[in-house]
Formats: sequence, structure tokens, C-alpha cells
Amino acid sequence: MYTATRVGNKVFPNAILKWFPQNQQGKQIASLASLSETHQLLYKTCRDFAEGELKPIAAITDREKMFPKKQIKEMGELGLMGICVPENVGGTGLDYMSYAIAVEEISRCCASTGAIMAVHNMYMNAVNNYGNDKQKEEFLQPFTDGKNIGSFSLSEPGLGSDAGSVATKATKDGSSYVINGTKSWTTNGLESKALVLFASTDKLKKHKGISSFLLKKATPGLSIGKKENKLGIRGSSTCNLIFEDCSVPEENVLGELGKGFNYAMMLLDGGRIGIAAQACGIAQASLELAVDYASKRNAFGTPIAKLQTIQNKIADMALRVESARLLTWRAAFLKDNSKPHSKEAAMAKLAASETATFNSHQCIQILGGMGFVTDMPAERYYRDARITEIYEGTSEIQRLVIGANVLKEYEE
Ligand SMILES: Cc1cc2nc3c(=O)[nH]c(=O)nc-3n(C[C@H](O)[C@H](O)[C@H](O)COP(=O)(O)OP(=O)(O)OC[C@H]3O[C@@H](n4cnc5c(N)ncnc54)[C@H](O)[C@@H]3O)c2cc1C
Repeated sequence: MYTATRVGNKVFPNAILKWFPQNQQGKQIASLASLSETHQLLYKTCRDFAEGELKPIAAITDREKMFPKKQIKEMGELGLMGICVPENVGGTGLDYMSYAIAVEEISRCCASTGAIMAVHNMYMNAVNNYGNDKQKEEFLQPFTDGKNIGSFSLSEPGLGSDAGSVATKATKDGSSYVINGTKSWTTNGLESKALVLFASTDKLKKHKGISSFLLKKATPGLSIGKKENKLGIRGSSTCNLIFEDCSVPEENVLGELGKGFNYAMMLLDGGRIGIAAQACGIAQASLELAVDYASKRNAFGTPIAKLQTIQNKIADMALRVESARLLTWRAAFLKDNSKPHSKEAAMAKLAASETATFNSHQCIQILGGMGFVTDMPAERYYRDARITEIYEGTSEIQRLVIGANVLKEYEE
């Protein structure tokens, strides 16, 4: 059983003294030594937790589409469900680099849990960044311990990439807003107790008329629609949310009216660092499985790891995941230092998600037939990897963001 000790709001693994002098061995990620002691401690905490509590349930979580309720609660106790939220409002008060490290380690063992954590933390960041004190008391503090989960609801059946054309309407009615419309693809939509919703308060102003709202899921007029049956990350729920004359008090407007689109774009910049980290986790798991299998599987009288063709694949996989991780950490570093990071977050997400797809593909190839069956996790890595190229902006959209930023950098 994994044990950890909370000191203030920080969490330290009890095994730290046993572990610390020997931390160079094993499947530790490269360049970890360059991280601060806090980041190394967090890395070790998350790795131990994920190995002990998530790896054993990852296959069944996927097969049974099972929300890992107990494990999410434990992650709350470890401080991972409000990781960047300040300590004075119940969070862990760590930085974005910590967030990237934690999401990677969780996703390395269970990408479904990584998705639940990443989207929940996006909800938390929205409330923390734009909420007032009363909203933080109601929508932030009770969501830090893993018992209550949040969602982020922007996409609709008619829009995904084109996020500025939100059709869901919020119409002023006295001191309330009445919401009508359908939101699609809401991660954690089944289990979440609250959500950040983006709706149009002024259609004529197009994206400048989008506002953000905080809603309890139990609000009358809000119901759960279609539940998606997905290729991967099947342990996380994804569903439509339907709003029919759903009335919310005007106190639930998050931030300023008409700023919702700006908030969504800024939150997505941060969110993309989380998805990049999730992708690095899947890519790293694929590499480790491939190396382990290649060193044990014999063909033509030798372990296949001795064959140069296999070594070339391993080299490409290692190169890609280490490059993607460094891009992810660079984006997190810039965000932590309040520097512009839209281009860097898009680069990290693009590189890491394509690496997750590449590495999981190569992993199946190295495992041969065993890569294609559910006895081994390679096929799950392959299915889980695919979403990282789609949500929080497709690879095509990341290229648009990168291209536009690069061109701007070279403007006279
Ligand atoms: C499992 C899952 C979970 C999700 N979770 C959430 C969530 O929690 N909250 C939320 O709000 N959304 C969520 N989404 C939605 C997700 O963000 C969108 O699916 C994604 O942004 C793509 O939008 P779309 O599916 O409408 O595709 P479209 O926007 O219809 O795109 C279709 C294709 O056209 C391409 N394309 C579109 N525009 C351009 C362009 N200008 N230039 C070049 N190519 C373009 C796209 O790259 C893509 O290849 C989730 C989706 C999935 C599948």
C-alpha cells in the first residue's frame, strides 16, 4: 500500500529516505537530475502512487469503462486535484512544472486517469484565475480533495476547432441567466459536480459575446445527454450536456461578461501543457514496454533487442519522448514565469501527441502479435494515444497557432 505524509499542503512519500540516494536507477526519466528537489519528490511520489494504485487497475478501467473513484480520491489526498491552486484556498500551491510532471506520471500508468485529472485541473484553474472569493469558496475549495470533480464545457455538436462560434445561449432574465443549448464531448461529464460553461450572452458580438459561467450539475434544466463510446481513455466519461431553460443567478458569471472566449483560449494554452504531459506519459510507457519485451523475446537465437532494426526503433522512440518532454517542460517553465507561452504550449502538445502515436505504434510492432492483443497494454497505449492529437485543439490547429506565432516573430 502506498503511503505518503502531508507536510503543510505538500506531500512527501514515506519511503523518501530509502529512495533518495538510489534514485538514479530504474526507469527514471532522463534529465530528472536537472529538476529541483521539490519536483523530484513530486515525481517520485506520483510514480510510486501510479505504479502501486493505477497500473494494476488500468486494463479493467479501460475494459469496463470504469471511473477510478477510489484512486481519484487518493489523488486528492496527495494534493494532485488542486495542484496549482494556492494553499490559502485549499490547493497544493505547486507550479505548472509540477503539474506537467504529475500528469505524465499518472498517464504513464493510466491515461484515462490522466485525462480526468487534466480536465479537472483545467476547471480548477478557470475558477482560480477568474473567480471571486465567494465563487472560490463554493466552486474551488470543495473540489481540491478528489471527492468532487469539475468539467470544462466549451465544444458543441456544431463546433470544436471553431470555438468562437458558440451557439449555446445565455439570456438575461432579471437577476438570472437562462441557458439553452447542447454542449458535447464534456470530459468528466457524468461524474462532475460542477462545470465551467461557455455560452453566448450576445450573438451579434460573435466571439466577443461569449461569457463563462459556473454551474452546479444539479441545477434544474441541466441534464446529461448522449454518453460517448470511445476508442481510448475509456475510464473517463465523455458526454453531451443539455440545457433547457436552465436558470443560473448572475453571481455565477465567471469573470467579466464577454470575456469567455479570451478566458477559454488562455486556459487552453495551459491545458495543452497538461495534454502534452499526458502524451509523454503514454509515449514513455510504450518505450518502457518495448525495451522490456525486446530484451526478453528471442528470435533466431538472440534477444530481439540485439537486432539493429529493433535498436533503431528504440532510439527513435527515446529521442522523440525526451524531445517532447523538454518542450513540455519549457512551456511549463514559461507559464510559471508569466511569459507568453501559446506557441510553446502548442509545440509541446503537437510534438508530444504525435510522439505518443508514434511510440505506441512502434511498441506494437516490437511486440509483434503480443502487441495486438489485450494481454499486454500496448494496444491500449495505441488507442489512448490517439485522443491527444484531437482534444484541446487538433494537431492541425496547433500548427496554425505555431505558424501564426512564428510569422509574427519575424514581422518587421
Ligand atoms: C474524448 C474527447 C474528450 C473531449 N473533452 C472535451 C472537454 O472536456 N471539453 C470540451 O469543451 N471539448 C472536449 N472535446 C472536444 C475537442 O476539443 C474537439 O473534438 C476538438 O477540438 C476538435 O473539434 P471537432 O471534433 O469539432 O472537429 P472539427 O473542428 O470539426 O475538425 C474536423 C477536422 O478539421 C480540421 N480543421 C478544423 N478547422 C481547421 C482549420 N482552420 N485548419 C485546418 N484544419 C482544420 C481539424 O483539425 C480536424 O481534422 C473532447 C473531444 C473528445 C473526442
